Amino acid sequence: MRDYFIAGNWKMHKTRAEAADLAKDLVAQLKDGKHKYLVAPSFTSLETVGAIVKGTNIMLGAQNMASEEQGAHTGEVSVLQLKDLGVQAVILGHSERRHIYKEDDALINKKVKLALQHGMEVILCVGELLEERESGKAEAVCETQTVKGLEGVSAAELAKVTIAYEPVWAIGTGKTATPEDADAIHAYVRKVVAKLYGEDAAKKICIQYGGSVKADNAAQLMAKENIDGALVGGAALKADTFVPIAKFG
Ligand code: PGA
Repeated sequence: MRDYFIAGNWKMHKTRAEAADLAKDLVAQLKDGKHKYLVAPSFTSLETVGAIVKGTNIMLGAQNMASEEQGAHTGEVSVLQLKDLGVQAVILGHSERRHIYKEDDALINKKVKLALQHGMEVILCVGELLEERESGKAEAVCETQTVKGLEGVSAAELAKVTIAYEPVWAIGTGKTATPEDADAIHAYVRKVVAKLYGEDAAKKICIQYGGSVKADNAAQLMAKENIDGALVGGAALKADTFVPIAKFG
């Protein structure tokens, strides 16, 4: 009942020309792809990449946005500005935003609600640090981030939300959670969603895994019952490494 959703987070990489080259390759190579796709370039490349993916099966995503619609917020980019560029979805609460830029659950929740009010899809990232996993707190951390991230989000709006479970210790480190460990957290997060929105909504919500997803582990991860796609960083930077993940199955 859930479609697989594979998203590429290009982080702070690529000039416009480089982003355009990758976007063109992906459009060509994924045109017969069976799953749902998204690319999230830097703000500076959104317009360029947007023109290339427009009308294709690849959605345009942003990596973050401001928690206010407009105003005196030097250095921020607003939902209105993103919509103006044709952005259809936004990644919120990425661990790099949480841990490097100190975004907390309340701020992330504000952004989630604002994006949804404007009809954007949201990928809400949750995930524990290594010390939290080692002290047995992985489920509790993911539960708190999910509950607080979704506070005030209506059942109708939830249809536009994807949750990405990204254990922080697996991001960019080459260490992947085992499919079993990842699936256990996915199942737990789905239970949390069931408590908040009911069983039906929990069955429908897409939960991506992220953290060192590569062509050689993607299929095993996504074969798990509760893993509905991938949020890919490093391997999303080249068509050669992203396309095999995106075309799995
Ligand atoms: P990675 O990044 O695939 O390079 O581990 C994933 C992410 O941060 O979304």
